[in-house]
Amino acid sequence: MFLKRLNYFFLSITILGSIFLVYSWINTYNFKNNPLDEKIVKKVKEKQYYLEKLSYQKFGINRKIPLIISDKMPSKLFGAATYSKNGQISIYLNKKRFKESSEYMINDVLPHEYAHALMFVKGYFTDENGGHSKQWQNICIELEGINCNRFVDHDDVIMGKSIFF
Ligand SMILES: [Zn+2]
Repeated sequence: MFLKRLNYFFLSITILGSIFLVYSWINTYNFKNNPLDEKIVKKVKEKQYYLEKLSYQKFGINRKIPLIISDKMPSKLFGAATYSKNGQISIYLNKKRFKESSEYMINDVLPHEYAHALMFVKGYFTDENGGHSKQWQNICIELEGINCNRFVDHDDVIMGKSIFF
């Protein structure tokens, strides 16, 4: 009798475990194949408008920089600022990274990349410290960025390459 109960017990655990596994698999699948949650997209747009406003107020730059949320970026990159051969400036945010923390993407990564983009707008193309120069840092701070550390080790400034995400 006891053994039988024990069997049921393990059987239930196995079933629950499988259900949980399928559930998390579906969640991951949905995340990969659907656009970001509307609420998050709205927050990104609000932050984008705010950054546009700040760059006008602080630097007199009145320019809408395209912002693309991409799921084709390498996982290690949170975001990037790109300057293409024909002079197009864009900001990319890695969709995969929104899964961990959308707040981090919006309040840390976005102003950081926005500052790189404004460096391009101003015509500063220094590769000093991977684009994390003192000038970049000043702009980042003016944009109320949280992540304006100059000593970061990622390659988020992409110039002149023909392949974009
Ligand atoms: Zn950077």
